[in-house]
Amino acid sequence: MATNYETHEYDVLVIGAGGAGLRAAIEASAAGVKVGLVCKSLLGKAHTVMAEGGMAAAMGNVDDRDNWKVHFADTMRGGQYVNNWRMAELHAKEAPARVHELEAWGAVFDRTKDGKILQRNFGGHKYPRLAHVGDRTGLEMIRTLQDHGIHQGITVHMEYTIISLLQDGGRVVGAFGYDRERGRFRIFKAKAVVLSTGGLGRAFKITTNSWEGTGDGVSLAYHAGAELLDMEYIQFHPTGMVWPPSVQGLLITEAVRGEGGVLRNKDGKRFMYDDIPDNYKSQTSTDPEEGWRYTQGDKNAKRPPELLTRDHVARCIRREVKAGRGSPHGGVFLDICWIKEKIPNSAEHIKKKLPSMYHQFMQLANLDITKEPMEIGPTTHYAMGGIRVNGDTQATNVPGLFAAGECAAGLHGANRLGGNSLSDLIVFGKRAGEYAAKYAQENSAGQINDAQVEAAAREALEPFDRGATTAANIEGPYQVQYDLQSMMQELVGIVRLENEMSRALDGIGKLKERAAKIAVYGHREYNPGWHTAIDLKHLLTISEAITRSALDRKESRGGHFREDFPDKDPAAAKYNNVLSKAADGSMKLRHEPIPALPEHLKQVIEEMK
Ligand code: FAD
Repeated sequence: MATNYETHEYDVLVIGAGGAGLRAAIEASAAGVKVGLVCKSLLGKAHTVMAEGGMAAAMGNVDDRDNWKVHFADTMRGGQYVNNWRMAELHAKEAPARVHELEAWGAVFDRTKDGKILQRNFGGHKYPRLAHVGDRTGLEMIRTLQDHGIHQGITVHMEYTIISLLQDGGRVVGAFGYDRERGRFRIFKAKAVVLSTGGLGRAFKITTNSWEGTGDGVSLAYHAGAELLDMEYIQFHPTGMVWPPSVQGLLITEAVRGEGGVLRNKDGKRFMYDDIPDNYKSQTSTDPEEGWRYTQGDKNAKRPPELLTRDHVARCIRREVKAGRGSPHGGVFLDICWIKEKIPNSAEHIKKKLPSMYHQFMQLANLDITKEPMEIGPTTHYAMGGIRVNGDTQATNVPGLFAAGECAAGLHGANRLGGNSLSDLIVFGKRAGEYAAKYAQENSAGQINDAQVEAAAREALEPFDRGATTAANIEGPYQVQYDLQSMMQELVGIVRLENEMSRALDGIGKLKERAAKIAVYGHREYNPGWHTAIDLKHLLTISEAITRSALDRKESRGGHFREDFPDKDPAAAKYNNVLSKAADGSMKLRHEPIPALPEHLKQVIEEMK
């Protein structure tokens, strides 16, 4: 009987305790409803804590020409105009207030000489816009939100994994999961649920994402009937570590380039000058001296080509490596130590501006970045696609279900600008919390269906049954997970081709069959094999969604690059790909026309040109 499982009851249940989840929980709690917050790991361990570069908000502290209109136009251009323009508008308008709110709650930002929040340059942002705390901005954001949230009466369930959403008719009325420590099942009843489960980088072999980034929220929402949007757009960050192998993929913040770091191939050439896209030519410097002045805050200088958008920089690096001009371990060189030619105490300067990077390379690669260039290469970083939401309320198409943060889609279009995620979390986390609380106040609790709960429990435990009965010739979850990640990396990665993606789709079908037969051994307490087996369903679901969307989009745009269709197709700029689960359980794709920009936003884009 489902009623035998320990049950917690809330008005609003927030799944995920990164920046988006914490901000949503704080807002819902402030509205006077009872809030529960569940997270897979310990509080403070979400991806948000890893964010280094900063949060984008047009406060104009360093360059007073900045304002919401410029930020809006930059976000739309970066997203290649397939963004949800309403989200881009709200984000640009509300981010400064959300950053000031963090400051009021105790966040200790770096400062300008006259005491304002300091803002740094980042790729695709016209003016210095990223509020930051050295290169530990995410840590400060999480610390501040946790400190503030802890006084709001939010109940936190750490180390709980949600494995399914519970529904009453179509409406979401709770969630079902297990505690990772004991392996015991739990029911969470709620009038409204907010998904804020972060990204899905673990679908690929080389990624900046931790073990938690398995796309759970996107998959949970999809299986509950929510629509997914823009799944083809994956951001491959240009600068991940390539050596040593144990840390391959680990992020090197864009702030290194923002502070003057340059990219060189094995011949020492700054190859980024070789290919500057037409739509960025007017803003990009071809003079190294001018590029350096830009990074040092010269308002009249143009940005260096190293600060072009991430998709473009990542492809240029891949080009150099493929042409045999790469570094010894298959990347290129990122050089910040060269600034000793410009700054007297450059080593101290680098350590002050980029403390985490300095330590990361010293400890993991035994390399002093103040003296030697780093070896770097592209790494899977961020999902622009995810759960389709209403721009104002963050509601999905499933009643009672909301989503915010990286697992939600729309704001970033085909490509996210650096720094626009942290601000996304606080702008739309707040909105999700506000509207979920409103929904909970307007609706009574739904019924938990025992059969649904039992089916979810049975499915979760099946791998144990197989382990107990068939010891020989049976696979564990790790091999299936590894094969999926390798295949996605190879066939649906940074450069895509029709025949390769078709092979990937067939491969996903076969991996699903293998996943249905995997076995796990041992008991339920802290059993990582079992946890991996459960996560596989999510990884397979999102991999299929990414591949289907990418196959359908026969053009190149932002984080989706097709070698067989390298140009943009103006007709394809008019729609987004939307995926949903059909009645027969198959994944269906449709084109959703992008609503026309309203006149006042058209004017903003015109003005900014
Ligand atoms: P996360 O912070 O990823 O949190 C997800 C939460 O969901 C976690 O608490 C997790 O435990 C929980 N969860 C997941 N699945 C389940 C489940 N099944 N059951 C229960 N709980 C679950 N962006 C910027 O704007 N600026 C930067 O400088 C920047 N730097 C970055 C550096 C790195 C190394 C990385 C990886 C990302 C960076 N990003 C940056 C991106 C940004 O940090 C993330 O997009 C953002 O933090 C995601 O926040 P979130 O709240 O959506 O999810």
